[in-house]
Amino acid sequence: MIPFADLRAAHAEVAEEVSEGFARVLRDTAFVQGPDVAAFEEEFAAFSGVPHCVGVGNGTDAIELALRALNPPAGASAVLPANTFVATAEAVVRAGLRPLLADCDDDHLLLDPSAAATAVAPGTVAVLPVHLYGQQAPMGPVHTLAGRRGLAVLEDAAQSQGSAQDGRPPLALAATSFYPGKNLGAYGEAGAVLTSAPGLARAVRLLTNHGSEEKYVHETLGFNSRLDTLQAVVLRAKLKRLARWNDLRRAAADRYATLLDGIDGVRLPRTAPGNLHVWHLYVIRVPQRDRVAAALREAGVQVQIHYPVPIHLQPAFRDLGHGPGDFPVTETAAGEILSLPMHPHLTASQQEQVAEALDKALRQL
Ligand SMILES: *Cc1c(COP(=O)(O)O)cnc(C)c1O
Repeated sequence: MIPFADLRAAHAEVAEEVSEGFARVLRDTAFVQGPDVAAFEEEFAAFSGVPHCVGVGNGTDAIELALRALNPPAGASAVLPANTFVATAEAVVRAGLRPLLADCDDDHLLLDPSAAATAVAPGTVAVLPVHLYGQQAPMGPVHTLAGRRGLAVLEDAAQSQGSAQDGRPPLALAATSFYPGKNLGAYGEAGAVLTSAPGLARAVRLLTNHGSEEKYVHETLGFNSRLDTLQAVVLRAKLKRLARWNDLRRAAADRYATLLDGIDGVRLPRTAPGNLHVWHLYVIRVPQRDRVAAALREAGVQVQIHYPVPIHLQPAFRDLGHGPGDFPVTETAAGEILSLPMHPHLTASQQEQVAEALDKALRQL
């Protein structure tokens, strides 16, 4: 069996540090807003090269609270890609905004800036580039569009911790997730908002904590969505290894590129020029995807699909009024994409077995 991810191997590397940290939190009963939370926020801000990090309960809340911090007026809307995890769109709706979907580009399956420009409407206040699979959406064009139309830019960086892009504009506002399977994963739910704006950082922090900075003084209606101290302990230990783990993911991606190169019918993932990819997912495209996926699973290779149904075809988003054919690049990709096992502890011999199984599956079509 070749696992899709290997959270056990990652845990083995940090087990001692995590046990010691947990013991310290238990001894001090610092369960909520313990010192590890502030320490992690500082460390993750430094790692990300931004001045402010606010820990929150999960990645979906991070998106919602970042949008709420922008104070959108009633009836406002936000542009986001149709090709993303449902949480991006869900958080937009929860923040009181109408989601305006845009198609992705065929080479990288990232938000297409010209499609985003077409989606902008009167009342649009924000654009959400999603750094899907571990590489950043084209931030230069996104910022140009945002500047022209007066939009805020909120990056969905749930899959891209440690990624970079040459010459990109500085990060203004981003939301990330530490769901266990992410490149930087907690042992439960966790997320964060990153920003260069102290006012936004403060607004998000108020929202996470019942609208309160000073105990029992509530400036605004908020939420209870704080980063858990035990999760902060895990994240501090794993953050120290993240750069190396991302290097190992890149090495694994290079090996896949070599191994899969000669296999007929496989379309390999591409890195956009200037991007440093962190390979949260290794997504190939194949004909008759469901048959190929079944054959791989049969051969003991765990594969997944990210994501089989685009946002606009999800029952939950029925009332947006979209139908098949509205976002053709996203829809075609949804029928072809296949995520192969990808994690820092994947071995060369496991990857050889994946390549062999894939070759065989495609020959049998
Ligand atoms: C994981 C993920 C989220 C949501 O994060 P949670 O912590 O699971 O709430 C949002 N957007 C994208 C692209 C994700 O991959």
